[in-house]
Amino acid sequence: MDNAEFARIAAIVFAVSMAISLLEMLYLTAISRKAPFWHTYAQPLKNALFVGLVGRLLPILGTVGFAVLGSKLAPLSLGNSWYVWPIGLLIFEFWYWVQHWLGHKVRLLWCIHAPHHAPDTLTSLIGLGRNIIELPYLGFFLGFMTALMGVPVEVIFVISLVDGFWGKFLHISEKMVPWKYGPLEYFMQTPAYHRCHHAKNLLYMDTNYNSITLFWDWLFGTLQPLRDAERVVYGITREVDSESWRDVQFSEFGALWADLKRAPGGWNKLCYLFMPPGWSHTGDHKTVAACRRNSHALADPGAALVQ
Ligand SMILES: [Zn+2]
Ligand SMILES: [Zn+2]
Repeated sequence: MDNAEFARIAAIVFAVSMAISLLEMLYLTAISRKAPFWHTYAQPLKNALFVGLVGRLLPILGTVGFAVLGSKLAPLSLGNSWYVWPIGLLIFEFWYWVQHWLGHKVRLLWCIHAPHHAPDTLTSLIGLGRNIIELPYLGFFLGFMTALMGVPVEVIFVISLVDGFWGKFLHISEKMVPWKYGPLEYFMQTPAYHRCHHAKNLLYMDTNYNSITLFWDWLFGTLQPLRDAERVVYGITREVDSESWRDVQFSEFGALWADLKRAPGGWNKLCYLFMPPGWSHTGDHKTVAACRRNSHALADPGAALVQ
C-alpha cells in the first residue's frame, strides 16, 4: 500500500466519520425542545472545522508517517502471519495507554490533552476536540514506537482506522446509543467506560485510558467500570467557557504559566511542568491521588490512622 492509498482510505473514513457526527447533530437538535445544540456543538464544530482535519485525518496519516520511520529503525519485524494482528493490537494499545496516562499525569502534557476533556457534554465531535500539538505526540507513540517493536506499517494503519472509528462510537451522545453492551463489557472499551473517563467524579478520574480493549487498564489497575450509583458528571475541575475555543484550547497553558511564575526556585518550576495536575509547591496537593487519599481519610478516619 503506497502513501496515496493510505491517504485515500483515511479520507473516506474521515468523511464517513464526519457524516456520523452530522447525523448525530441533526438528531440531537431534532429531539431538543429548547435551545438547539449550538452550545454543545459550537466549540467542537469550530474545532472540527479549524483543526478537524488535523484532529482526525492527519493523525492517522501522521501515525503512518511515524510508523514508516519506526519500521526503518526496527531491529525485527513480526512478519505477515495472522498473529501479527492480535499482537500488533496489544502493542498499539500498550503505547496508547502510555501516552494517555502521561497525558493525564504530566501537567505539561495535560495542557495538551485537556481540551478533549473540557466540554461538559459528550458527543462524537468531542473525539475531534484535540489540541493541534497532539498530532506529533500521538504519532510518536502510536506510530513510531509501535513500528519500532516490529509491527508492520499496514497493520498500524488498519488498527489506527479501527481505533478512530471505535473512538467515534465511544463518544456518541448517550441520547443516541446505550451505555452498556452485554458481554462486550468484559473485554472491550464501551461508551460506559469512556463516559467514565470523561467524568470529573473523583471515582472515575484518571481511569479507562485505552480506546479499544480493556487489557492494559485491567493489567495496570486503571480500569473503572460504571457504577449505577455514581452518575457521570462530564468535564474538568476548573470552570470552562465551553463556547470559547480559546478557553478550551489554551487556558490550561495559562494556568500552568501562572503557577510557574509564582513557584519559588527552579526545582518547583520543574515539578509544576512534570508532576500531575494539582501538584503544589506549598504541599497542599489537589492531584487525583491526593484527593482520593483525603476522601478515604474523611470517609474512614480509623483507616487513615492505621496508615
Ligand atoms: Zn483522557
Ligand atoms: Zn474521549
